[in-house]
Amino acid sequence: MAYDFDLFVIGAGSGGVRAARFAAGFGAKVAVAESRYLGGTCVNVGCVPKKLLVYGAHVADEMEQASGYGWTLEEGHFDWGTLIANKNREIERLNGIYRNLLVNSGVTLLQGHARITGAHEVEVDGKRYSAANILIATGGWPHVPDIPGKELAITSNEAFYLKELPRRVLVVGGGYIAVEFAGIFQGLGADTSLLYRGDLFLRGFDGSVRTHLKEELEKRGMDLQFNTDIQRIDQQADGSLKATLKDGSQRIADCIFYATGRRPMLDDLGLETTGVELDERGYIRVDDHYRTTEASIFALGDVIGRVQLTPVALAEGMAVARHLFKPEQYRAVDYQNIPTAVFSQPPIGTVGLTEEQALQAGHKVQIFESRFRAMKLTLTDVQEKTLMKLVVDADTDKVLGCHMVGPDAGEIIQGLGVALKAGATKQQFDETIGVHPTAAEEFVTMRTAIR
Ligand code: FAD
Ligand code: NDP
Repeated sequence: MAYDFDLFVIGAGSGGVRAARFAAGFGAKVAVAESRYLGGTCVNVGCVPKKLLVYGAHVADEMEQASGYGWTLEEGHFDWGTLIANKNREIERLNGIYRNLLVNSGVTLLQGHARITGAHEVEVDGKRYSAANILIATGGWPHVPDIPGKELAITSNEAFYLKELPRRVLVVGGGYIAVEFAGIFQGLGADTSLLYRGDLFLRGFDGSVRTHLKEELEKRGMDLQFNTDIQRIDQQADGSLKATLKDGSQRIADCIFYATGRRPMLDDLGLETTGVELDERGYIRVDDHYRTTEASIFALGDVIGRVQLTPVALAEGMAVARHLFKPEQYRAVDYQNIPTAVFSQPPIGTVGLTEEQALQAGHKVQIFESRFRAMKLTLTDVQEKTLMKLVVDADTDKVLGCHMVGPDAGEIIQGLGVALKAGATKQQFDETIGVHPTAAEEFVTMRTAIR
């Protein structure tokens, strides 16, 4: 049977655009439907605008440190409106780039909500298209727990478009987004508290990293409240918000920001017309080739809930395009040793196993750890410490994990990701000549195991 398209992609985000472009490049006839914004979460309400706001917040650090280097600055004034307008302009530029990337690769771009109407059929704005294969790349959406007053809270989606910087912010959650946005709000001058339901935020990260970041954020004056949660939110007569916590205490804020995880975006997607099944967590179930339980339908990225990072969605998109249209170039995505950064202030960079994971996996581990004040701070009053940590297999000498909290952690950890992928040993780290004077050289000069 002749179909309108070889591949119909739903969602022009990180994974969908990558799969569509490469499939078209391999000669397939491809359509992409996008209901909201080209480039998806990462470009519009994720990685990119977030990093721009982090840069904005970081300027406060530079100004604080300037006097140690002989600079006298007049009192700074921050204007949220300017930052957001400049950010929006950059996002619009990127939207245009994504449009050109798709159109120039020969992909048919359909703007509108796509709904699957059968194993080989998709409807967009009342028009039906047939396709040999359908790819669901619809991403995720913030999840806010069902508490009274939840409609008064905002999520990352709204935070990027606030009209003004709130004076007092409560951030709820203890994952990537909570920690990053607490740093943004505080760095830009808001009185910020972070409320997390567990003992210590960033569950799943290395224990030393979590403790170190906690200490550094407290040094910066951030109010960290653990083992707590909001029970209800009420609006007060003056427009401010009153949060009642589980212990009955109350807090007043101008903005309550929820970062309590994301759910797969399956709204009105029409999965009930197909044999696509969800897993026990509600994400789309796929096999090793991202094929769902309906043979002609594939899914990738945040909607399958494996690793919710843009470079992972890109790698999965590439794998789907190759699997379907260039099998001789197919390579499975390697989910081991995925480097990642949390753009907190200071940031975290991490790759490989945490100490806890290494022990749990049965490794006999040697731990190398260093805490130091970065050279850049020595002429300033700032007492921030950088943490670097290596987790090494004592039997094989293989480096299992590298972890850092400190300036440029994300930049530094990227290179170490290559080393871990290549299976580097501690001896090879030791034999690598450092770049002097840098903070990064500490990773190749830690000689004595602390345990
Ligand atoms: P998405 O990029 O979410 O794209 C899905 C697209 O599908 C969207 O454009 C959506 O509008 C569209 N869509 C949905 N349903 C339909 C439909 N029925 N019809 C048509 N279109 C539809 N990752 C990093 O690696 N680094 C970071 O620094 C980082 N920061 C982040 C910060 C925030 C605040 C958030 C929320 C996420 C961040 N992420 C980061 C995660 C990253 O954005 C996601 O992992 C990535 O965007 C997932 O790509 P995707 O292709 O699966 O989905
Ligand atoms: P995460 O899953 O990282 O964190 C969710 C947090 O919310 C956890 O601390 C969790 O606590 C808490 N939580 C969950 N449910 C509730 C609840 N009902 N009440 C109170 N607290 C709750 O989600 P995020 O929203 O922060 O980010 C989503 C994903 O996006 C990340 O996992 C990451 O993959 C990606 N991302 C990547 C970034 C980067 O690369 N720099 C930046 C931002 C996002 P607990 O731990 O106890 O379950």
